[in-house]
Amino acid sequence: DESEDVLLAVTGLEVAFDGFKALDGVDLSVGRGELRFLIGPNGAGKTTLIDVVTGLTRPTGGSVRFGDEELVGRREHEIVRLGVGRTFQTSVVFEELTVLENLDLAASFRRPLWSLLRRRRGVSEAVERALETTGLQSLASSRAGVLSHGQRQWLEIGMLIAQEPRLLLLDEPVAGMAQDERARTGELLTQVARDHTVIVVEHDMDFLRRYASMVTVLHEGRVLMEGSVEQVRADPRVQEIYLGR
Ligand code: ADP
Repeated sequence: DESEDVLLAVTGLEVAFDGFKALDGVDLSVGRGELRFLIGPNGAGKTTLIDVVTGLTRPTGGSVRFGDEELVGRREHEIVRLGVGRTFQTSVVFEELTVLENLDLAASFRRPLWSLLRRRRGVSEAVERALETTGLQSLASSRAGVLSHGQRQWLEIGMLIAQEPRLLLLDEPVAGMAQDERARTGELLTQVARDHTVIVVEHDMDFLRRYASMVTVLHEGRVLMEGSVEQVRADPRVQEIYLGR
């Protein structure tokens, strides 16, 4: 059964703001364990799509199936509890806390309340895994405020992983990063996608060429095309919307 392999199925999604359709019938299907890149020029509807999936924006039409659950109509915290995590363009890191404390705090957001009342010993497995995956072990007891831009981004991804989501939505994870940090982030995403399904909004074509297999192109609130990076780059419509910017 093919549908068993689909984790996220968006159908006919529409978001209208005062008559303007930010999303105009979006269909998108993302398989379990997939690392999917989402691209498109400014105003294409990428953020709106993520906002709908995470319950921040209520669509005017369509459906978002996550496994067996319908996400449309659910509140943000319910969607988090179902296993959808996202990063924001604004940082959610607590600068005065250490890297480990930030991860531990993030992990506690999905823990049942009673577990917070128990005396906890040591570091949870989820936090341990997040530290390892992000390669931040040696910085575990450093204050988050001293991290470089790249390290802070990895910490944010780690904070998501610590919540053990099934789907991660990442908004421009390499924005503002130096070349070596980009490469490290590409490896990190590849590794994260081994245990999770990941959707990444990213524009950097060089980065896409290296790390993306499947790309979805949004344009004017619709899916313009889907394919490999090579197919997408070779498409005259994609070239036009990017060059015509
Ligand atoms: P992208 O993330 O691809 O740059 P957005 O999803 O942010 O695109 O925006 C898609 C379109 O919807 C844009 O034209 C934007 O101006 C419009 N839009 C987004 N949010 C709102 C809102 N809250 N009210 C009105 N228009 C909005």
